[in-house]
Amino acid sequence: MMARTSKIEWTDRSDWNPIRGCTRVSEGCRHCYAERMAGRFSKPGMWGHGIAERTPAGARWTGRVAMQWDRLDLPMRWRKPAMIFASSTADWFHESLTIDEIATLYAMAVSATVERGHTIQILTKRAARMRELLNSDEFWRLVAHRRCDWAWSAFHYDAASPPTRIWLGISAEDQQRADERIPHLLATPAAVRFVSCEPLLGPIQFDPLWLRASPSTVAASGRLPSDAPGWTRIGMNALDWVICGGESGPHARPMHPQWARGLRDQCAAAGVPFFFKQWGAWGNGSDFAADAMAVTSDGRVVEPTSDSLAAADRAAPIGNATMMHCVGKARAGRLLDGREHNEMPEVAR
Ligand code: SF4
Repeated sequence: MMARTSKIEWTDRSDWNPIRGCTRVSEGCRHCYAERMAGRFSKPGMWGHGIAERTPAGARWTGRVAMQWDRLDLPMRWRKPAMIFASSTADWFHESLTIDEIATLYAMAVSATVERGHTIQILTKRAARMRELLNSDEFWRLVAHRRCDWAWSAFHYDAASPPTRIWLGISAEDQQRADERIPHLLATPAAVRFVSCEPLLGPIQFDPLWLRASPSTVAASGRLPSDAPGWTRIGMNALDWVICGGESGPHARPMHPQWARGLRDQCAAAGVPFFFKQWGAWGNGSDFAADAMAVTSDGRVVEPTSDSLAAADRAAPIGNATMMHCVGKARAGRLLDGREHNEMPEVAR
């Protein structure tokens, strides 16, 4: 296995970026790192020109998404098999990309897995478009054509056994986005399905049907996921992996520890691998010297005085405010209740 070059803890490399540009879709995009970087380099002649611009409110995507053709075949040039997070700074299922462009990306991903033994991790917030395309015969015909164009080995797609080394994931920062996107993910053919709850901005309760149906859960409920109305196409599909992380960077919002613990405990109960990536900028622990602020269980930051806490509790009487400290990602670390959680799907190794 190659040495890791990515700073993202759950992958080996995140430097395959064959597209540039995006647009915000939900609250998790509010402090998008990629948008900030593109805005910083958006002057004429710089790589971000045309895809982002500086505004009085900060960097903003323009909506243009551009293929980086010179970077498309990078994974074919990397000879040591690696776990590759594809396009960590964009979204493969962005509405500005044509079906042909996405098929081209996908064909390269298939080639990288087959010819080089890489594993490709694709993460999207456009779950509906991913589901639509990856269930479309036309899309897979285009993927096969691209592979033939490149004169690599023939590719025959079989929906019953999708490419084994392509993992598909969706981002879900809160309950609403989990409810919207996870059913699309489960209805998409994939060898491995994962959810990245980063930046986690609220508690998420998984539907038990989304988690792998262990013999005990099936016995307890007396039914399989495919029995549920509207889930007939999903069958036994379930989540294979859950990643959790807090927000970092300027204006980062805190992740209440109970939200992270909730994900951890649901995964443990269902036997789903759980990866705790980071706290983000806000740490939870008594060993930080920085001024403590109180974070309510709905994510608001309030002065830790009895008056402000009482007011916060009246506004959202859910209690459980906790002290947190904005100390930066490095110091906040990645221990949850004193230990790291680095679980991966079994197929990973
Ligand atoms: S989808 Fe990802 S890359 Fe696009 S704006 Fe949102 S956070 Fe940024």
